[in-house]
Amino acid sequence: MADPRAFRAPIDLHTHSSVSDGTESPAELVRAAAGAGLGTVALTDHDSTGGWEDAAATASEVGLTFVPGMELSTRYGWKSVHMLAYLFDPADEPLAAETLRIRDARRSRAETMVARLGLDYDLSWDDVLAHTAPGATVGRPHIADALVSRGVVPDRSAAFETLLHPRGGYYEPIYAPTPLDGVRLIRGAGGVPVLAHPATRGRDGIIQDVYLQRLVDSGLAGLELDHRENTEDGKAALRQLAEHFGLILTGSSDYHGAGKPNRLGENTTPPESLERILDESAYLARTG
Ligand code: AMP
Ligand code: FE
Ligand code: FE
Ligand code: ZN
Repeated sequence: MADPRAFRAPIDLHTHSSVSDGTESPAELVRAAAGAGLGTVALTDHDSTGGWEDAAATASEVGLTFVPGMELSTRYGWKSVHMLAYLFDPADEPLAAETLRIRDARRSRAETMVARLGLDYDLSWDDVLAHTAPGATVGRPHIADALVSRGVVPDRSAAFETLLHPRGGYYEPIYAPTPLDGVRLIRGAGGVPVLAHPATRGRDGIIQDVYLQRLVDSGLAGLELDHRENTEDGKAALRQLAEHFGLILTGSSDYHGAGKPNRLGENTTPPESLERILDESAYLARTG
C-alpha cells in the first residue's frame, strides 16, 4: 500500500462499495473518486475490510491516495451509532472477531426481516442474495434493492421510509457492541476512531457529554462534522464539543454509488485533520 502520508487534497474519508451497501466494486469506486477530482479517498465499508486490497491496487494505478477504513456498527441503548475507524491492523484478532460476529448477526437479522416481509409481499431470501455481492456485509439496503426489483417500492429511500423503517412492522434490530467497546477495539488494533455523522438527529441527538467524555478517555479521536445528514444546529454543537475535547473534525460524502444521492467529494476533510489522523495511527507507525 502506498504511504498515505504523501496524500493530496481534496480528501473524502467516508465511502461504501459493494463489499457492504454501496453499488460499485472497490475498484470502480476508486476510479469514480479519481474521476470526481479527489486526491485522497478512504473506503469505509460497514463492518468489513474486504475491499482494501482491490481499492489500494486501483488507487496506485490511478495515482490516488488510499486510506483504509471501516464503519463499525455500534449500539448505545436503542440507538445505532456508527463509528469510523482508520488505519488499523485488519488482522487484529479481537476486532476481526467482533466484525465477523456483527456480519453474521446482520445476516440472520436480514433473514428474519425478509421472512416477515415474505408473509405480506412477494419476496424471498434469494431475491436479497441476488442484490448482495458474495461475502458482503448485508443490510437493509440490500433488502430495499430486492423490494425495488419486485416492484414493491420505487427506490431505496421509499423502502427506508416505509417497510424497512424501525416502526414499519418488519424491523429487527442488529447486534452491535457499545460505542465504548468499539473505541477500545479500534485503538487496540492500532486504529483511529471517529464518530460518524453524530448530529443526524440534531444537537439534542448527539451522544451525551458524560458518555462522550468516556469515549474520549478511551481514545475517541474525532467527529465527522461535514456530512449532509448532520443538522446545522448539530454542527455548531459538534464544533464546540471538538474544541472542548480536543477532537479532530472531518468531512466526507458517505458515498454509496447509486444507492444514495450523496456524491463523492460533496464534503471534504481539511488536510490538517488527516495529518492528525495519520499521526494517531499506531498501526501506521508500526508498519510504515
Ligand atoms: P442497516 O445497517 O442494515 O440497519 O441499514 C442502514 C444503512 O442503510 C445505512 O448504512 C445507510 O447507508 C443506509 N440507508 C439508510 N437510510 C437510507 C435511505 N433513505 N436510502 C438509502 N440508504 C439508506
Ligand atoms: Fe450504508
Ligand atoms: Fe453511517
Ligand atoms: Zn456510511
